[in-house]
Amino acid sequence: MANIIKAPSKYIQGKGEIKNIGKHLSKLGRKFLIICSEGTFKRIGQDIKLSFDENMCQYIFNYFNGECSLEEIDRIVEVAKNNSCDVVVAIGGGKAIDTGKAVSQKSDCPVAVVPTIASNDAPCSGLSVVYNNEGVVVKVIFSKRNPDVVLVDSEIIAKAPVRMLVAGMGDALATYFEARASRNSNSKTMAKGNATNTAIMMGKLCFDLLMENGIEAKKSVEKNEVSDALENVLEANILLSGIGFESGGLAAAHAINDGFAYIEQSHGALHGEKVAFGTIVQLILEKVSDEELYKVIDFCIQVGLPVTLADMGITNVVDEEIKKVAEAACVKTQSTKNMPFPVSEMDVYNAIFKADEIGKSRKQ
Ligand SMILES: [Zn+2]
Repeated sequence: MANIIKAPSKYIQGKGEIKNIGKHLSKLGRKFLIICSEGTFKRIGQDIKLSFDENMCQYIFNYFNGECSLEEIDRIVEVAKNNSCDVVVAIGGGKAIDTGKAVSQKSDCPVAVVPTIASNDAPCSGLSVVYNNEGVVVKVIFSKRNPDVVLVDSEIIAKAPVRMLVAGMGDALATYFEARASRNSNSKTMAKGNATNTAIMMGKLCFDLLMENGIEAKKSVEKNEVSDALENVLEANILLSGIGFESGGLAAAHAINDGFAYIEQSHGALHGEKVAFGTIVQLILEKVSDEELYKVIDFCIQVGLPVTLADMGITNVVDEEIKKVAEAACVKTQSTKNMPFPVSEMDVYNAIFKADEIGKSRKQ
C-alpha cells in the first residue's frame, strides 16, 4: 500500500482575517454562494460583504437550516445552480462546513471553509458526515478534493463559547494516539493509503501544542482575547487534527465516541468531549505507562474535558448500556479494527469502567 496524505490547498489563520476574505478567495471563481446561519450573518456579514465588494467579487448569501442532511445539501446545490454560482463558501460549525463540502462535491466546484468555532476537526478534511432530520448519521460523503481554502479568524473564535474550544481540544487530543495505533497496525487511513511520516509528526505536534498551550488558550477565550497560546491551539484543533485524523488514521477513541450515541444520557456531550474520554479508554486498552495515561487524564481535568462517565452526563450507569457502547465500538466497520492487537467488546467494556474509576481517583 502507498503512503498517502491529503490536505486543504491553502490554510490561513490570523486575527481579523475575515476582513480579507475577498482577497483570499477572489481567484477561486466568479460568483460565490455563501452559506451561514442568520446569527453568523448578523455578526460578520458586513465584514464579508465589504471585503468581497472591495475585491469586485459577485456573491449571494443563503441561510443554512442547521442540519447537514441530504435534503439540505440538495437544496443548496439547486440554489447554486439557479444563481450560477461557481464557488461555495461555508461559514459556521461542523455541520455547515460539512454541508458546504458536500455541495461542492455534488456541484463539482471549489469550496472555501470558514470555521466560526474550533470544536472539531471538520474544516480541513475532505469528507462530510450526513445526518437525517432526527440527527442520526446516515452516510459519509467523500469529496474528491479537500477544501480549496480554510480561513480561520482567531478573533471570531476567541469570542465563541469556551466549551467549543475545549471540545476541539478533546477531538485533537485523540489525533496522535489514533495515528500511532493505526500506524502500528499498518492500517489504511481515510486517505486510502498508509500514513506518511508527515501525518504522524503532525499528530505529535498537535499533542505537544495542546499540552503546552491548552490551559492558556482556554483562559484567553474566557476573556475573549486572542493570544499566542490560542493561535497554537487553533492550529492544533483545526489544521493538525484535521489532517491527522484523515491521513494519520483513526482507532478506538473515535469508535468509542460513536458508541456513546447509544446512551441517551450522554447526548448533551459534544463530539470532542466524548472523543477525549474515548482517548483515555484507548490508552487503557493499549496498557500505556501510568505516566502517559495520567498526563492525558490530568490535562483533561485541567481544561474541563470529561474523565468519568458522569462528566459526560451518564449519572445513572446501566451495565447493559455500556455493553451496547462496547458492542457498537467493535463492529467490523468501526475504526477499533485499526488497533495493533485484537480488541473484544469485553475489553472495551472493562476499559470504560477502568477509565471511569481512574478518572474519579485523579480528580481527588
Ligand atoms: Zn473527531
